[in-house]
Amino acid sequence: MAYPHLKNLEQKTTNSNFERGKLYLSDKSLSNYQCVNKRYFSASVRGQKTYRVLLELGKDDFRAWCSCPYASRGLCKHEVALALEVRNKKNITLKQIYRKRIHARLFQQFNIFHVDLLHLWNRFSG
Ligand SMILES: [Zn+2]
Repeated sequence: MAYPHLKNLEQKTTNSNFERGKLYLSDKSLSNYQCVNKRYFSASVRGQKTYRVLLELGKDDFRAWCSCPYASRGLCKHEVALALEVRNKKNITLKQIYRKRIHARLFQQFNIFHVDLLHLWNRFSG
């Protein structure tokens, strides 16, 4: 997964959107941050109104969508804010994904173990 790099992010937007995006983070205008899964992230960003933002990590790059009416060049300031947050939370997110995977594996092993026991039980008790 290609997490947003600052350089990449700056190239994908205008200077003023980049600066405004940073401000949204520092003044806590970003809320409801969610890591939907290892590729999708969403948040609400409060500007003049509150907008919903979605970000998808790709193999080499990322894409973002926002419910605001911005239609000029590159990412809007709300998308910049979410991209910065995804970047800031990268280590936490990776840890969570890793933990979830371990849990899933343990659960799977336990179930297989359980099914085996059941199978044995049926064989010797029946
Ligand atoms: Zn926007």
